[in-house]
Amino acid sequence: MDTICAISTPYGSGGIAVVRVSGGEAIGLVDGLFRGRKALTDARGGTVHHGTLVSGDGEMIDEVLVSVFRAPHSFTGEDTVEIACHGSLYIQQAIVRALVDAGCRTARAGEFTQRAFLNGKMDLSEAEAVADLIAAQTKASKDVALRQLRGGVSSELEQLRERLLKLTSLIELELDFADHEELEFADRGELNALADEIAGKLQQLTESFRAGNAIRNGVPVAIVGATNAGKSTLLNALVGEERAIVSDIDGTTRDTVEDTVVINGVLFRFIDTAGIRETKDTIEQMGIERSRRAIEQAQIIVEVIDSTKPQPMEGLPEEKVIRVMNKGDRLRGTGYGLRVTGYGLRVIGDSQLVISAKLGELGDLRERLVEKAALPSSEATMITSARHYEALSRGLEAIRRVKTGLAEGVSGEFLSMDLEECLEAMGEVTGKITSQEVLNTIFSKFCIGK
Ligand code: GDP
Repeated sequence: MDTICAISTPYGSGGIAVVRVSGGEAIGLVDGLFRGRKALTDARGGTVHHGTLVSGDGEMIDEVLVSVFRAPHSFTGEDTVEIACHGSLYIQQAIVRALVDAGCRTARAGEFTQRAFLNGKMDLSEAEAVADLIAAQTKASKDVALRQLRGGVSSELEQLRERLLKLTSLIELELDFADHEELEFADRGELNALADEIAGKLQQLTESFRAGNAIRNGVPVAIVGATNAGKSTLLNALVGEERAIVSDIDGTTRDTVEDTVVINGVLFRFIDTAGIRETKDTIEQMGIERSRRAIEQAQIIVEVIDSTKPQPMEGLPEEKVIRVMNKGDRLRGTGYGLRVTGYGLRVIGDSQLVISAKLGELGDLRERLVEKAALPSSEATMITSARHYEALSRGLEAIRRVKTGLAEGVSGEFLSMDLEECLEAMGEVTGKITSQEVLNTIFSKFCIGK
């Protein structure tokens, strides 16, 4: 495989930047540009060397620290060199230019991790966890990604695979020797118990996706309510500061920054219900349609009611709702209770929370959001990827068919087909069975340099 290079630290200038080089020629190539006490080609793996780096035409680019890793003991499994230079953008780019002139190719997004996968350093679910780990914004999402990176999901699937293979071999044995009446086979009760066990575990894993996804991508929250109740004002109050920080760090991808906010270590993602305030004529229709979709997707619904003009929405799934009475500031001086009652708000119930989105007085809304998110401890193994969820759901369907088949006395040949499908679905998660196309899509979502 050709030798690739990329800047692995974020774009911009900083104290230090790291340029990474991986492939069969990595050490020799960098050595050609390196001036130090001894040649890198003689260096042992896992050692660091101080020296200067020069370009092909002899310009001294920078004073650097070079780490040498020898195959297979590196992240990619190939010979790898990491050049730590001063974090000037000019220096970083000059180093990459010099490497390319010397025969390196610039790496594609995720190519280092892709090589780690191809070289058997990690399976696919572990490789995907690398991207999640880099993107982690909370302790919980970091914990879940780190467990997956360290083989948490893979080892559960490996155990399941063994059970499946056992079930398959028992059934095939029955097929192969069906004519030998004198032989005794595993009775179908035993097969059934095994299928039950596999189905139970697969179900548990697919069910963990809801929580896993909420931890990784944020608990989906919809803010709904009548026009002018103060929904966008509330959204700004909740994410305002956070959003400014996010766009600061991630200025280049501003348009993809979602309205997310971390409250007490829980990541929330606000579902877009814009459009509700688009044009006057279509307000009602669009508002209703958009809200309905948001309500379906949401795990939590914050219903905003203008306490000076209450228009509660009908038919909301109550178990998801946190109801807030907004514009509390306008009730001031008259005494909330009295005025609120005067407007007939008793019907709304006792748990109402009076806030002023405009003044940023949100009472204990944040605490209520965290409470309602009710995320499980991040200690458990969880599925966080829609790709895994989809594959495991298919596996679950297949094993359920096996169970029905066993109950109905279906012949072993048909059972084997379903078992095969179940195995295949699980293999897709770890990358034992995956098409090149799927691989390309997965790794293209990584950043360059990882
Ligand atoms: P939306 O249509 O539900 O998104 O409502 P907006 O957030 O656009 O707010 C509608 C109007 O209500 C705006 O003029 C806001 O400034 C005002 N508003 C929102 N929240 C409050 C509040 O807590 N107190 C007061 N006095 N006005 C508010």
